[in-house]
Amino acid sequence: MFNNLSEKLDKAFHILKGHGKITEVNVADTLKEVRRALLDADVNFKIAKDFTTRVKEKAMGQDVLTTLQPGQLLIKIVKDELTELMGGDAAGINLSGNPTIILMSGLQGSGKTTFSGKLANFLKDKKNKKPLLVACDIYRPAAINQLHVVGEQIGVEVYSEPENKNAVDIAQNAIKHAKANGFNVVIVDTAGRLAVDEEMMTEIANVHKAITPNETLFVVDSMTGQDAVNTAKAFNDRLNFDGVILTKLDGDTRGGAAISIKSVVNKPIKFIGTGEKMDAIDVFYPDRMADRILG
Ligand code: GDP
Repeated sequence: MFNNLSEKLDKAFHILKGHGKITEVNVADTLKEVRRALLDADVNFKIAKDFTTRVKEKAMGQDVLTTLQPGQLLIKIVKDELTELMGGDAAGINLSGNPTIILMSGLQGSGKTTFSGKLANFLKDKKNKKPLLVACDIYRPAAINQLHVVGEQIGVEVYSEPENKNAVDIAQNAIKHAKANGFNVVIVDTAGRLAVDEEMMTEIANVHKAITPNETLFVVDSMTGQDAVNTAKAFNDRLNFDGVILTKLDGDTRGGAAISIKSVVNKPIKFIGTGEKMDAIDVFYPDRMADRILG
């Protein structure tokens, strides 16, 4: 995960990790390298620039150069700022409501269906919940089948109405079914398209309005870099979602999405997907992620 970024940051910090005297020029050079590493990781230009400006201000405020270990202190400031940029504290998931209603949104291929299964599995095993998965993709029968396969794998019931072409209807019927049968979490998997389009947005906005979810989650493929951030913005403008799920972090992602998304949409990353299997889900902790990035 983020190997390239980690390597570049490590290189940027090289001079600070030595034992020689550190000068203002060294600090400026290091921050220039840090900014370049962030840009290479597909972090938006303004975010990268603001980031290094904040680090510099903090370093000056703390008189870094006069301390005993200026290099270590500067690296700590970078780590703290990186943590802050990614959201500060872990966000957690809102499990209020009986049943708790969770709406999944995102583009086709982002990993929505897979993550719906992972979340159901996580809530069943770790939070003692009885979840119901709901297939609301009215366009692709294969998507409905896929959710049934996932449900079977993890032992979670899947609600679907293959003949019904009204997503709002299906979602509402599923909630009735959940209430009548003792399910305390309802996870609604919706239709995604390959790109943001008006029809998809209207449909999910209608479902959102009709079922008033306790959590609306936006799922995004971390491999898509700045596109991920733009898509997040489009969905957030329409749904005002509660949190982001960053998938495919097990791949060779550059890190831009993880680092930028919070500051663009001001919504926390809540979970990450780290593989295709049902247990490849982790709560997102900004400080642990910053540790991983900085090595
Ligand atoms: P959807 O169209 O948004 O429902 O996306 P899917 O859940 O069908 O996922 C698309 C593809 O990405 C599938 O082949 C999944 O197995 C794969 N996938 C989903 N999440 C992850 C992940 O965290 N890591 C990896 N490596 N693959 C994933």
